[in-house]
Amino acid sequence: MKGLYVHIPFCEYICHYCDFVKRVPKNQDMIDTYLIRLRDEIISYEQHYDKVETIYIGGGTPSMLTVDQLTYLFESLLRIKPMEYTIELNPESYTHEKGLLFKKYGVNRVSMGVQSFNDDILKYLNRGHKSEDITWIINDLKSIGIRDISIDLIFAIPGQTLDHIQYDLEQLLKLDIDHVSYYSLILEDKTYFYHQYLKGNFKPMDEDMEANMYEFTMNFLKSHGYEQYEISNYARNNHYSLHNSIYWTLGEYIGVGMGAHGFIDNYRTYNERGMSQYLDHFLKEKTLQTDETKLQDELIFGLRMTKGISISQIESKYNVTLMDKYPQISDKIKLGLVRIEGDYLHLTKEGMMLGNQVFMLFV
Ligand code: SF4
Repeated sequence: MKGLYVHIPFCEYICHYCDFVKRVPKNQDMIDTYLIRLRDEIISYEQHYDKVETIYIGGGTPSMLTVDQLTYLFESLLRIKPMEYTIELNPESYTHEKGLLFKKYGVNRVSMGVQSFNDDILKYLNRGHKSEDITWIINDLKSIGIRDISIDLIFAIPGQTLDHIQYDLEQLLKLDIDHVSYYSLILEDKTYFYHQYLKGNFKPMDEDMEANMYEFTMNFLKSHGYEQYEISNYARNNHYSLHNSIYWTLGEYIGVGMGAHGFIDNYRTYNERGMSQYLDHFLKEKTLQTDETKLQDELIFGLRMTKGISISQIESKYNVTLMDKYPQISDKIKLGLVRIEGDYLHLTKEGMMLGNQVFMLFV
């Protein structure tokens, strides 16, 4: 299976925690110019499209495009007939008309940036919507016929308590949707929060409290029928994200748009992150992957998934004995961070919380 990731790097405002490739556009002309060049880049991968089975339009904020701009973008992708077609949206820029357009062009999955159902926390994050916006949008999408809906939520925000987490999870249940991505807040370089941190005005959450929130979320969602299939992702009724599963299983995907990256024909591709450079030539660099780098990636990404990695498959694919190549795995087993069950090596619950300590083994 191949995927296509399309990056729309425009936002109406900048959230205080965000380190994605994004900017507030100077004007509508800037977006139009970008979309024209994006179409050129999409066409440049034409020979792969028969095999593309997922499209993911992410950002930035794809839903802030006007109906005309979205139409232009969807028309640029018309040649592809994916099984899963996702667009990210932010609540404040959604309209019924845009929902109808999604449906018309075959979009069958929406991923919405909700982050919290508490308006004070949304304000603290500098989000542009209110919690009351969420329910009508979900109902509207369902009435249009788009029922595959995921929301993003964030925990470990300073000031957040377990009561906030429980409230967010209860609101999620009321929405009756099949997928949620629940991330912990990461203090990323060059963000507003990072600058506040340097000035002493931002105090990251205590690690024990963060672990409590994560465990609470895992248990709550499990008891309500959501399967945790990846460190931060939970699905009901097998509604896994096919597109993201491509990343975690080292499948091939094309990345188009500013700052996008891909993995195609054994090359990792990295697009330019600056607007003028991207408009000029798209690609910043591409690097040939060796068996060694692919093995590393397959272990690191594969262990993100709760089912883990098949030891026999990895060993025969790369002609290695896993425990000989990485004897330190035994230490992590003793520490209770990973476990071998049958043919599978996977993270334990504790390992899920401390994944980086395991991933470091393979770098
Ligand atoms: S979190 Fe999303 S909406 Fe906020 S600045 Fe980043 S890309 Fe834009």
